[in-house]
Amino acid sequence: MDDHNRIALVTGANQGVGRQVAKELAANGVTVLVAARDFAKGEAAAKEIGRGAIAFQLDVTDKASISAAAERVRHEFGRLDLLVNNAGISQTTKRTLQENVQANRASTASLDEVRAVWETNVFGVLAVYQAFLPLLRLSSDARIVNVSSGVGSLTSASDPTYEYRHIFGPVYPASKAALNAITLAMCIELENTAIKVNLVSPAFTSTNLNNFEGTESIEDGSREVVRVALLGPDGPSGTFTRWENTTIPW
Ligand code: NAP
Repeated sequence: MDDHNRIALVTGANQGVGRQVAKELAANGVTVLVAARDFAKGEAAAKEIGRGAIAFQLDVTDKASISAAAERVRHEFGRLDLLVNNAGISQTTKRTLQENVQANRASTASLDEVRAVWETNVFGVLAVYQAFLPLLRLSSDARIVNVSSGVGSLTSASDPTYEYRHIFGPVYPASKAALNAITLAMCIELENTAIKVNLVSPAFTSTNLNNFEGTESIEDGSREVVRVALLGPDGPSGTFTRWENTTIPW
């Protein structure tokens, strides 16, 4: 009997947190669709993960790519049980974290960069949700995990005593605040269904997103995303957490 019964799709799964989540889901017996905008990178990651991992091409900013991936899932699996919206970018120009804080000032942020980051982090997630929701509705135990960030918490950033308040700006932090808003809309839309929705922040993890300036390892930094992605049918919906199951205010 095939023990890889649960079908999960992780966007941006070719590196960083997404690849770690895909790896741990596969190790827990889940069939993982390793989605990557560059199919060859997805194939390399799926090969490295091994049993239970299958590469998919999916660029969250490309409508045709999203539709083709959803159609392939419908054709090959007939449903989706878990969608991890992980793909994200923090900038369009390589900068250090310190330079990024400067580039995030409301008065000077590049509108082109704001649009590009929001296209991936906000509109990309909504487009993937819309394409895959019909497949999640065919699951008896469906869950959506949106990978956000603590820096997107409006409650925290509006508190003058919050130590990372100075980081908040229109490019990346506000894109995550908008993702949180879109996630709340998903929660409200689905609250009378069996489909669960969770928002999770990885720890400050050493990945390409932050020029590997993050302080946590991939394993530690991804742990809360993995925990939430593996929640069963009785697990909660509507949570926003970071490691270790600590609530983040929306
Ligand atoms: P990462 O290593 O840079 O990984 C980001 C992934 O997203 C890559 O696979 C990237 O693909 C993919 N991606 C970017 N644009 C895409 C698109 N248009 N379509 C499909 N995939 C796309 O960064 P990470 O740190 O693992 O980030 C994963 C998530 O965690 C993001 O949502 C990020 O905001 C969030 N997060 C990270 C941290 C942290 O400290 N690292 C903290 C809080 C939240 P390519 O390889 O092709 O670029």
